[in-house]
Amino acid sequence: MAAPKRFFVTEIAEEMTLSAEESRHAKTVLRLAEGDEVTLFDGSGKEYSAIVTKADKRGISVHVIGGSSSAREPKTHVFLLIGALKGDKTELVVQKATELGVGRIGVFSSRYCAAYMNENKLERLNRVAREAAKQCLRASVPPVEYFDTLEAALRAGAACGTKLFACEFLQTSEAGADTDGSVCAVVGSEGGFSEEEFALAKTLGYRGISLGRRILRAETAAIALLSVVMYKAGELA
Ligand code: SAM
Repeated sequence: MAAPKRFFVTEIAEEMTLSAEESRHAKTVLRLAEGDEVTLFDGSGKEYSAIVTKADKRGISVHVIGGSSSAREPKTHVFLLIGALKGDKTELVVQKATELGVGRIGVFSSRYCAAYMNENKLERLNRVAREAAKQCLRASVPPVEYFDTLEAALRAGAACGTKLFACEFLQTSEAGADTDGSVCAVVGSEGGFSEEEFALAKTLGYRGISLGRRILRAETAAIALLSVVMYKAGELA
């Protein structure tokens, strides 16, 4: 029997109606009907079983029958900081980072960054995170926020116990990807980082990590670094 379909809701109530967007998808694509069971998640890490009580043009109404914490949420909190990328590559990174279990994503502008950010793009990135969380059966959604300078982004990650700065011009890593529970992982945009930006990161407690002798695309570097961090943290077991 297929797992109940999952829907993102902004808040949970015993009797509630799905959003217009989710209702439209539930009715037209999934053909949900009264009596069907669904799973709701509000992005907090809990998920709720519910039964469809009405499916009409006003939307899908449900009765929530119980909630539980999701077993799929990582215990390690990972905060990814990624330079704004051109085209839809930032969306790709947000999607893969969400699947890999990050808890928070920051997109920043830096000296050699050629992409720009606006409210629409940021909302689109948060929608990509919600859809990715739904697809991989997570019950929490990493918020995606924008920092207009690298320094602001680095300071946002300062509280993380392990702070890793993926530096393309580093010969050998200054740190491993071992963690004590919270990690901030920083990856540059297509243009990479300047020596001054690396020096700034070091003054803020970040340590350089090399991802090998080859120069990886930013999206490859982000996925590779997150995979190593999550594997070392036992989150890919
Ligand atoms: N513009 C840079 C150049 O030509 O040398 C390349 C930047 S690379 C496309 C984008 C980001 O991916 C880098 O800023 C870094 O964070 C990460 N990255 C790529 N290759 C890496 C490597 N071998 N070691 C560490 N980080 C790497």
